[in-house]
Amino acid sequence: MVWGMDSSIDEAVTPEATDAAGAGTGPAAGGGPEGAAGERGALAPVSLSPSRASDFMQCPLLYRFRVIDRLPEKPSEAATRGTLVHAVLERLFDAPAGERTAPRAKALIPGQWDRLRESRPELTELFADDPEGERLAGWLAEAERLVERWFTLEDPTRLEPAERELFVETELDSGLRLRGIIDRVDVAPTGEVRIVDYKTGKAPRPEYAEGALFQMKFYALVVWRLKGVVPRRLQLVYLGSGDMLTYDPVPADLERVERRLHALWEAIRQATESGDWRPRPTKLCGWCDHRAHCPEFGGTPPPYPLPVRAPGSRAG
Ligand code: SF4
Repeated sequence: MVWGMDSSIDEAVTPEATDAAGAGTGPAAGGGPEGAAGERGALAPVSLSPSRASDFMQCPLLYRFRVIDRLPEKPSEAATRGTLVHAVLERLFDAPAGERTAPRAKALIPGQWDRLRESRPELTELFADDPEGERLAGWLAEAERLVERWFTLEDPTRLEPAERELFVETELDSGLRLRGIIDRVDVAPTGEVRIVDYKTGKAPRPEYAEGALFQMKFYALVVWRLKGVVPRRLQLVYLGSGDMLTYDPVPADLERVERRLHALWEAIRQATESGDWRPRPTKLCGWCDHRAHCPEFGGTPPPYPLPVRAPGSRAG
């Protein structure tokens, strides 16, 4: 099978380790503005992105803090580097195929970093305590390594993406809207679709691969519902470890994801109405910005900003 001009699709998959920092779970990670609880009295969540669905599955209270309370979070070096590397890989495809080289990609980093800081001035605080620029230099060098590693996994001179950073949104028959941003969509001359996502963290261990694929199956479901075509291949490119994780979905996979999302949507609706958002502590709490508000860490959540319905009472 040929995707654009790429023929390296069947490279071995050797997932080795997981990396929570690279999991892209921050509020700004790939989901866009989430439909929160809507207007007062209309408490059903409006939409779901893979990031927010993952938040709820990880910890319902984390979902509440991000979607309903909209508590601010500090930018992290790892997430910001991920955003920078994504921007570089996206922009590289502006160049003619033969000029998409590693040196050219690395040369894009300073300009894309400037653009990122201009669009998100809060990022300047990341290196505010680094007057000599040593940490910044190390951070940029790591971004270069990640970009360089991509060339060991894919050959952009042989790829012609159909879409880059594609915002997708669809509404299911139930009224649940699904949305997200797909890093890259390749379409083969046969019309077969490949969905590609870059991760700047490391590949998960095999036992966690299913969780990593959830986001990709989510996107595949959206594309299926929008275009009537089940993507032929889902491909996660792990720049942190130099691995690829691929999966060829079938309709039954995506129907399962759809059922799971409806169950999730119902659980979110119930929590929204009851105000009962349980903390679910895991080792990922170490990455959570909201420990000061979390009862598991001795904190108190802010006052719940929505009306609460007594259990068993019906929506008006
Ligand atoms: S600290 Fe852990 S348990 Fe508390 S809100 Fe964050 S993820 Fe949930």
